Amino acid sequence: MDKETYTEPVIAQYQPEHLVEFEKMLGVGTNYTPEHVLKCFEVSYLVKKENDELDQVNPFIEAKNHLLRHLVSSQMKAERYFEINPPFKDSCPGCSGTGELYKFTRKIVQVNCHICAGKKKIKVKCPSCEGTGRFQERWKGGGGIDVSCKTCRGKKKVAVKCSECLGTGKKPKNVPDYRIKSTTPCKRCKQLGFMEDKPTKPIKKRPQPANPVLTQNLADKIKETIVDQIKQDAEDALIDPEGTPI
Ligand SMILES: [Zn+2]
Ligand SMILES: [Zn+2]
Ligand SMILES: [Zn+2]
Repeated sequence: MDKETYTEPVIAQYQPEHLVEFEKMLGVGTNYTPEHVLKCFEVSYLVKKENDELDQVNPFIEAKNHLLRHLVSSQMKAERYFEINPPFKDSCPGCSGTGELYKFTRKIVQVNCHICAGKKKIKVKCPSCEGTGRFQERWKGGGGIDVSCKTCRGKKKVAVKCSECLGTGKKPKNVPDYRIKSTTPCKRCKQLGFMEDKPTKPIKKRPQPANPVLTQNLADKIKETIVDQIKQDAEDALIDPEGTPI
């Protein structure tokens, strides 16, 4: 571990009594999942938004972050991975709904050697028979006989110490530990975990077609015109194409 760059994990600063404060703030109860924390946070956020109190939302973000860190760390300790299914319709693709990115402390663990699969030995072509499995036994007086190779007993291969792991069967691997070393706030969702609706631009008011208000005078005039037109049409219809009245 590089001592120069090592910083105390954020999670280590929080004792269980601190978590209680955050649990109360979000109203998650005492036995809760990451998904429940996120849902409670979303509800708190929406209430603040509804009341036009988004300036007061930061403590809720903090509470949500701390509870999640605690749960993520616990999951990592138990499973060596963590999985959260954010209950949001539009969860943030940048942080998978958590609101921040976690950097875990790392540790060296011994894993099975990938060359010998932990068996310590690997099989190679028999050097005595060059992989044929047979051996020509010569007789002194001439002639000879074809026999099984004594080194590999006719199996063509022999097991030798794995040179990758030097016969230990194990190799050191640097893997994430369960402790959170540091977190980075997600810029895409501003730590909310979900994508906030983009503020809609005010719609420009276009002149709407409206029913014109008629004065009694104008209305009568239109009526007269229509009546005259109907009379005219009726008269026209009574004239045949030759122009003779029917
Ligand atoms: Zn052999
Ligand atoms: Zn090996
Ligand atoms: Zn995000």
